[in-house]
Amino acid sequence: MSIVAPQGRKHLSADGLFRLVQSGFASLPDYRVGETEIALTDALMSAFAMFSLKAPSLLAFDKERAAGNLHTIYGIERVPCDTHMREILDPVSPKWLRPVFKSVFRQLQRGKALEPMAFLDGHYLLALDGTGYFSSQTMHCASCLQKVHRNGALTYFHQMLGAAIIHPDMREVIPLMPEPIVKHDGTDKNDCERHAAKRFVAKLRKDHPHLKFIVTEDSLSSNAPHIETLHAYGLRYLLGVKEGDHAYLCKQVQAAEHAGRVT
Ligand SMILES: [Zn+2]
Repeated sequence: MSIVAPQGRKHLSADGLFRLVQSGFASLPDYRVGETEIALTDALMSAFAMFSLKAPSLLAFDKERAAGNLHTIYGIERVPCDTHMREILDPVSPKWLRPVFKSVFRQLQRGKALEPMAFLDGHYLLALDGTGYFSSQTMHCASCLQKVHRNGALTYFHQMLGAAIIHPDMREVIPLMPEPIVKHDGTDKNDCERHAAKRFVAKLRKDHPHLKFIVTEDSLSSNAPHIETLHAYGLRYLLGVKEGDHAYLCKQVQAAEHAGRVT
Protein backbone atom coordinates (compact mmCIF):
# COMPACT_ATOMS: atom_id res chain seq x y z
CA MET A 1 0.00 0.00 0.00
CA SER A 2 1.63 3.19 -1.12
CA ILE A 3 -0.34 6.23 -0.17
CA VAL A 4 1.07 9.70 0.18
CA ALA A 5 -0.62 11.55 3.00
CA PRO A 6 -1.43 15.21 2.54
CA GLN A 7 0.33 17.45 5.09
CA GLY A 8 -1.16 17.44 8.54
CA ARG A 9 -3.23 14.32 8.08
CA LYS A 10 -1.50 11.88 10.33
CA HIS A 11 -4.20 9.25 10.14
CA LEU A 12 -3.61 9.02 6.38
CA SER A 13 0.13 8.45 6.70
CA ALA A 14 1.49 4.94 6.12
CA ASP A 15 1.91 4.73 9.88
CA GLY A 16 -1.68 5.71 10.56
CA LEU A 17 -3.06 3.32 7.94
CA PHE A 18 -0.89 0.43 9.17
CA ARG A 19 -2.30 0.97 12.67
CA LEU A 20 -5.81 0.93 11.25
CA VAL A 21 -5.14 -2.38 9.48
CA GLN A 22 -3.65 -3.76 12.67
CA SER A 23 -6.60 -2.80 14.83
CA GLY A 24 -8.90 -4.36 12.21
CA PHE A 25 -6.94 -7.61 12.44
CA ALA A 26 -6.96 -7.42 16.23
CA SER A 27 -10.75 -7.41 16.25
CA LEU A 28 -10.92 -10.76 14.42
CA PRO A 29 -11.59 -13.76 16.67
CA ASP A 30 -8.70 -16.21 16.95
CA TYR A 31 -10.13 -19.51 15.67
CA ARG A 32 -7.43 -21.51 17.48
CA VAL A 33 -8.06 -23.15 20.83
CA GLY A 34 -5.65 -23.38 23.69
CA GLU A 35 -2.25 -21.77 24.11
CA THR A 36 -0.88 -20.07 21.03
CA GLU A 37 2.69 -19.01 20.57
CA ILE A 38 2.07 -16.28 18.03
CA ALA A 39 -0.99 -14.03 18.00
CA LEU A 40 -3.30 -14.17 14.98
CA THR A 41 -2.90 -10.39 14.64
CA ASP A 42 0.88 -10.83 14.34
CA ALA A 43 0.51 -13.53 11.69
CA LEU A 44 -1.94 -11.40 9.68
CA MET A 45 0.25 -8.32 10.06
CA SER A 46 3.29 -10.34 8.94
CA ALA A 47 1.48 -11.40 5.77
CA PHE A 48 0.43 -7.79 5.22
CA ALA A 49 4.03 -6.64 5.74
CA MET A 50 5.28 -9.22 3.27
CA PHE A 51 3.13 -7.74 0.51
CA SER A 52 3.64 -4.17 1.67
CA LEU A 53 7.42 -4.69 1.45
CA LYS A 54 6.94 -6.46 -1.90
CA ALA A 55 8.95 -9.46 -0.74
CA PRO A 56 9.42 -11.75 -3.77
CA SER A 57 8.67 -14.87 -1.72
CA LEU A 58 7.79 -16.12 1.74
CA LEU A 59 11.37 -17.24 2.08
CA ALA A 60 12.76 -13.82 1.15
CA PHE A 61 10.42 -12.30 3.70
CA ASP A 62 11.66 -14.79 6.26
CA LYS A 63 15.05 -13.09 6.08
CA GLU A 64 13.48 -9.75 7.06
CA ARG A 65 12.46 -11.27 10.34
CA ALA A 66 15.86 -10.72 11.81
CA ALA A 67 16.08 -7.09 10.70
CA GLY A 68 13.75 -5.70 13.36
CA ASN A 69 11.91 -3.30 11.01
CA LEU A 70 8.83 -5.42 11.26
CA HIS A 71 8.38 -4.47 14.88
CA THR A 72 9.09 -0.75 14.41
CA ILE A 73 7.13 -0.18 11.22
CA TYR A 74 4.38 -2.76 11.40
CA GLY A 75 4.05 -3.14 15.16
CA ILE A 76 4.50 -6.91 15.03
CA GLU A 77 5.50 -8.49 18.34
CA ARG A 78 6.52 -11.89 16.99
CA VAL A 79 6.93 -12.77 13.31
CA PRO A 80 6.14 -16.39 12.46
CA CYS A 81 8.50 -18.36 10.19
CA ASP A 82 7.10 -19.10 6.74
CA THR A 83 5.74 -22.57 7.56
CA HIS A 84 4.10 -21.35 10.73
CA MET A 85 2.59 -18.36 8.93
CA ARG A 86 0.96 -20.70 6.40
CA GLU A 87 -0.37 -22.92 9.19
CA ILE A 88 -1.93 -20.01 11.06
CA LEU A 89 -3.36 -18.22 8.04
CA ASP A 90 -4.60 -21.08 5.85
CA PRO A 91 -7.84 -21.54 7.85
CA VAL A 92 -8.58 -17.79 7.90
CA SER A 93 -11.49 -17.08 5.57
CA PRO A 94 -10.74 -14.22 3.15
CA LYS A 95 -14.11 -12.69 3.94
CA TRP A 96 -12.95 -11.90 7.48
CA LEU A 97 -10.67 -9.29 5.93
CA ARG A 98 -13.46 -7.38 4.23
CA PRO A 99 -14.09 -4.97 7.15
CA VAL A 100 -10.39 -4.02 7.09
CA PHE A 101 -10.58 -2.94 3.44
CA LYS A 102 -13.71 -0.98 4.32
CA SER A 103 -12.19 0.83 7.28
CA VAL A 104 -9.14 1.91 5.26
CA PHE A 105 -11.45 3.11 2.48
CA ARG A 106 -13.60 5.04 4.94
CA GLN A 107 -10.52 6.68 6.45
CA LEU A 108 -9.36 7.79 2.98
CA GLN A 109 -12.83 9.07 2.19
CA ARG A 110 -13.11 11.02 5.42
CA GLY A 111 -9.59 12.39 4.99
CA LYS A 112 -10.53 13.73 1.54
CA ALA A 113 -7.93 11.49 -0.14
CA LEU A 114 -10.57 9.90 -2.36
CA GLU A 115 -11.97 13.03 -4.01
CA PRO A 116 -8.81 13.96 -5.96
CA MET A 117 -9.02 10.53 -7.59
CA ALA A 118 -12.32 11.37 -9.35
CA PHE A 119 -11.69 10.89 -13.06
CA LEU A 120 -14.73 12.17 -14.93
CA ASP A 121 -17.77 14.03 -13.63
CA GLY A 122 -17.32 12.72 -10.07
CA HIS A 123 -16.85 9.12 -11.23
CA TYR A 124 -14.01 6.94 -10.00
CA LEU A 125 -12.18 4.57 -12.32
CA LEU A 126 -12.50 1.06 -10.94
CA ALA A 127 -10.12 -1.43 -12.55
CA LEU A 128 -11.23 -5.07 -12.39
CA ASP A 129 -9.23 -8.04 -13.58
CA GLY A 130 -8.82 -11.71 -12.85
CA THR A 131 -5.44 -12.86 -11.60
CA GLY A 132 -3.89 -16.10 -10.42
CA TYR A 133 -2.14 -16.36 -7.06
CA PHE A 134 -1.52 -20.06 -6.61
CA SER A 135 -0.65 -22.92 -8.93
CA SER A 136 0.62 -26.41 -8.24
CA GLN A 137 0.78 -29.85 -9.83
CA THR A 138 0.59 -31.57 -6.45
CA MET A 139 -0.67 -29.37 -3.61
CA HIS A 140 -4.40 -28.69 -3.67
CA CYS A 141 -7.48 -28.08 -1.55
CA ALA A 142 -11.24 -28.46 -1.91
CA SER A 143 -11.61 -24.99 -3.41
CA CYS A 144 -8.94 -25.39 -6.09
CA LEU A 145 -9.73 -24.69 -9.72
CA GLN A 146 -8.39 -27.45 -11.98
CA LYS A 147 -6.93 -27.51 -15.42
CA VAL A 148 -6.59 -30.82 -17.25
CA HIS A 149 -3.71 -30.83 -19.71
CA ARG A 150 -3.70 -32.68 -23.01
CA ASN A 151 -1.44 -35.38 -21.57
CA GLY A 152 -3.89 -35.91 -18.71
CA ALA A 153 -1.82 -34.06 -16.10
CA LEU A 154 -3.65 -31.80 -13.65
CA THR A 155 -2.78 -28.30 -12.52
CA TYR A 156 -4.47 -26.95 -9.42
CA PHE A 157 -4.79 -23.21 -9.10
CA HIS A 158 -6.49 -20.33 -7.35
CA GLN A 159 -7.65 -17.09 -8.92
CA MET A 160 -9.38 -13.96 -7.79
CA LEU A 161 -10.98 -10.90 -9.25
CA GLY A 162 -8.83 -7.99 -8.13
CA ALA A 163 -10.24 -4.47 -7.86
CA ALA A 164 -8.65 -1.07 -7.34
CA ILE A 165 -9.62 2.56 -7.73
CA ILE A 166 -7.09 4.06 -10.09
CA HIS A 167 -6.32 7.39 -11.74
CA PRO A 168 -4.05 7.77 -14.78
CA ASP A 169 -2.15 10.70 -13.20
CA MET A 170 -1.60 9.12 -9.78
CA ARG A 171 0.83 6.47 -8.64
CA GLU A 172 -1.33 5.49 -5.69
CA VAL A 173 -4.23 3.10 -6.06
CA ILE A 174 -6.94 2.18 -3.57
CA PRO A 175 -7.42 -1.59 -3.45
CA LEU A 176 -10.89 -2.92 -2.70
CA MET A 177 -11.72 -6.34 -1.29
CA PRO A 178 -11.00 -8.87 -4.07
CA GLU A 179 -13.51 -11.62 -4.92
CA PRO A 180 -12.22 -15.19 -4.99
CA ILE A 181 -12.96 -17.15 -8.17
CA VAL A 182 -14.12 -20.54 -6.92
CA LYS A 183 -14.62 -24.04 -8.26
CA HIS A 184 -18.33 -23.81 -9.04
CA ASP A 185 -17.89 -20.57 -11.02
CA GLY A 186 -17.53 -22.50 -14.27
CA THR A 187 -15.09 -24.30 -16.48
CA ASP A 188 -13.75 -21.61 -18.78
CA LYS A 189 -12.00 -18.38 -17.85
CA ASN A 190 -14.83 -16.25 -19.19
CA ASP A 191 -17.51 -18.00 -17.16
CA CYS A 192 -15.43 -17.93 -14.00
CA GLU A 193 -14.68 -14.23 -14.11
CA ARG A 194 -18.27 -13.37 -14.98
CA HIS A 195 -19.68 -15.18 -11.95
CA ALA A 196 -17.08 -13.71 -9.63
CA ALA A 197 -17.75 -10.25 -11.07
CA LYS A 198 -21.46 -10.64 -10.33
CA ARG A 199 -20.72 -11.31 -6.67
CA PHE A 200 -18.14 -8.55 -6.60
CA VAL A 201 -20.45 -5.79 -7.85
CA ALA A 202 -23.28 -6.88 -5.56
CA LYS A 203 -20.97 -6.51 -2.54
CA LEU A 204 -19.46 -3.31 -3.94
CA ARG A 205 -22.90 -1.73 -4.12
CA LYS A 206 -23.72 -2.92 -0.61
CA ASP A 207 -20.55 -1.25 0.69
CA HIS A 208 -20.76 1.86 -1.49
CA PRO A 209 -24.36 2.35 -2.63
CA HIS A 210 -23.91 5.92 -3.87
CA LEU A 211 -20.37 6.14 -5.20
CA LYS A 212 -20.12 6.77 -8.93
CA PHE A 213 -17.87 4.32 -10.76
CA ILE A 214 -16.59 3.74 -14.27
CA VAL A 215 -15.48 0.11 -14.38
CA THR A 216 -12.52 -0.64 -16.65
CA GLU A 217 -11.93 -4.20 -17.81
CA ASP A 218 -10.25 -6.16 -20.57
CA SER A 219 -12.04 -7.67 -23.56
CA LEU A 220 -13.01 -10.79 -21.63
CA SER A 221 -15.72 -8.70 -19.97
CA SER A 222 -17.17 -7.35 -23.21
CA ASN A 223 -20.19 -9.62 -23.26
CA ALA A 224 -23.91 -8.95 -22.87
CA PRO A 225 -24.53 -10.82 -19.58
CA HIS A 226 -21.72 -8.95 -17.86
CA ILE A 227 -22.76 -5.56 -19.26
CA GLU A 228 -26.31 -6.25 -18.04
CA THR A 229 -24.91 -6.87 -14.56
CA LEU A 230 -23.03 -3.56 -14.66
CA HIS A 231 -26.23 -1.78 -15.76
CA ALA A 232 -28.25 -3.43 -13.02
CA TYR A 233 -25.90 -2.02 -10.38
CA GLY A 234 -25.74 1.46 -11.88
CA LEU A 235 -22.13 1.16 -13.01
CA ARG A 236 -20.64 2.81 -16.06
CA TYR A 237 -17.85 1.14 -17.96
CA LEU A 238 -14.93 1.28 -20.36
CA LEU A 239 -14.38 -2.21 -21.74
CA GLY A 240 -11.73 -3.50 -24.09
CA VAL A 241 -12.69 -5.30 -27.29
CA LYS A 242 -10.70 -7.55 -29.62
CA GLU A 243 -11.31 -7.73 -33.32
CA GLY A 244 -11.19 -11.53 -33.15
CA ASP A 245 -13.68 -11.82 -30.26
CA HIS A 246 -16.01 -9.01 -31.27
CA ALA A 247 -16.17 -9.34 -35.05
CA TYR A 248 -19.77 -8.13 -35.36
CA LEU A 249 -19.19 -5.07 -33.19
CA CYS A 250 -16.02 -4.14 -35.08
CA LYS A 251 -17.84 -4.52 -38.40
CA GLN A 252 -20.58 -2.16 -37.19
CA VAL A 253 -18.05 0.41 -36.05
CA GLN A 254 -16.22 0.16 -39.38
CA ALA A 255 -19.45 0.65 -41.31
CA ALA A 256 -20.34 3.64 -39.13
CA GLU A 257 -16.88 5.07 -39.70
CA HIS A 258 -17.31 4.82 -43.45
CA ALA A 259 -20.68 6.51 -43.20
CA GLY A 260 -19.27 9.30 -41.03
CA ARG A 261 -21.48 8.37 -38.05
CA VAL A 262 -18.66 7.92 -35.51
CA THR A 263 -17.96 10.66 -32.99
ZN1 LIG B 1 -6.86 -24.88 -3.35
